[in-house]
Amino acid sequence: MFSQRIERAAASGTQQITAEVDRLRRRGIDIVDLGAGEPDFATPQHVKAAAVAAIADDFTRYTPNTGVRELREAICGRYAADYGVAFDPDQVIATAGGKQALFNAAMALYEPGDEVITHAPGWPSIVEQIKLAGAAPVAVRTHAEDGFRLHAAAVLEAFTPRTKAIVVNSPGNPTGALVAEPDLERIAGEAAARGVWVVLDLCYEELIYDDAPHNLPRVLLDRLPDRFVVTGSLSKDHAMTGWRCGWAIGSHAFIQACNTVQGHATSNVSSITQRAAIEALTGPQECVAAMRNEYRERRDLLLRLLAAEPRVRCVRPGGAFYLFPDVSELLSPDGLRTSTDFAQALLRDGQVAVTPGEAFDAPGFVRLSYAASRDDLDEAARRIRKFIDALDHGDVATATGS
Ligand code: GLU
Repeated sequence: MFSQRIERAAASGTQQITAEVDRLRRRGIDIVDLGAGEPDFATPQHVKAAAVAAIADDFTRYTPNTGVRELREAICGRYAADYGVAFDPDQVIATAGGKQALFNAAMALYEPGDEVITHAPGWPSIVEQIKLAGAAPVAVRTHAEDGFRLHAAAVLEAFTPRTKAIVVNSPGNPTGALVAEPDLERIAGEAAARGVWVVLDLCYEELIYDDAPHNLPRVLLDRLPDRFVVTGSLSKDHAMTGWRCGWAIGSHAFIQACNTVQGHATSNVSSITQRAAIEALTGPQECVAAMRNEYRERRDLLLRLLAAEPRVRCVRPGGAFYLFPDVSELLSPDGLRTSTDFAQALLRDGQVAVTPGEAFDAPGFVRLSYAASRDDLDEAARRIRKFIDALDHGDVATATGS
């Protein structure tokens, strides 16, 4: 009945959790939500004021499809300031979140017969977009044992004559792991030699907690100036998930291709959002530092709280706002069999929402978002311990048991 492309792709596992929490809360159930990957902070006041002014000024019409020039200049300004790289505004397209930037890239670059390398555990939309474009995703696995490091050697081994592109997400969702500059240098060098594209998703670039060299845009620009894509977003660092503002940066020809895709899909990002985004990028940045500092504290708090239960094995992430513990020791053939079972039972009996690892191609793990208040983190940890205690005593209903 539906197209083959839809038959191939799966719905977003991360968005399903948000919908489920919404459904339970509407029924009056008290849920601590560590499922959604979204800041609990309000959008900064000066950003909201810019949007209100845009409405008052009747800035409510179509804009150029790629976004107003002031916004594209502001995006270039961020990369000049943060990385010392010079892009020109015609190398930028503003998009409805980082997701549309990646989707544009998928539509512009991938086709049936192509392979596109990604890393797993990874954000589900990257893989599903590759499938929607008719190409085949090839996952390079990273491992908790070495902090989910993406090893260049593993990526190079995955290259075949069909490889069209590699999509790299750093800091990564759900692991929080950073890709090291030397690894990306090797990957980009090989990609350049083989005519392969590198797509770099930097949606969590402002949320890095420890000092680590991370000038990945420079690495790409130096090695493959015609076949790189950098995507970013204001959703996470400016608490603007609902506004839908992201971007893609690449060669002029690539941006023209994205312009064609987007011009027949959504057209420009909301004009009001664009004015807010200009203010977010060019206005005071103390709000970003304050949120980053708070996330760092929360990361450390949640790690301390979970350390009490050795069967919830966490890696200390370098960025983003997720812990991605291995809970496989709590699973068993005659109890909760999978991390999806675990997450469902925890939601039902423990009233804590987490995202099962299956959503990220990582069975045995669950993702906990620490973009939640310290009180919520405390309460979630308490409920998780109580739930595990009940599980140990056989007091949790399982598919096979009670
Ligand atoms: N990126 C967020 C997450 O991973 C939001 C949901 C989505 O768009 O996938 O939870």
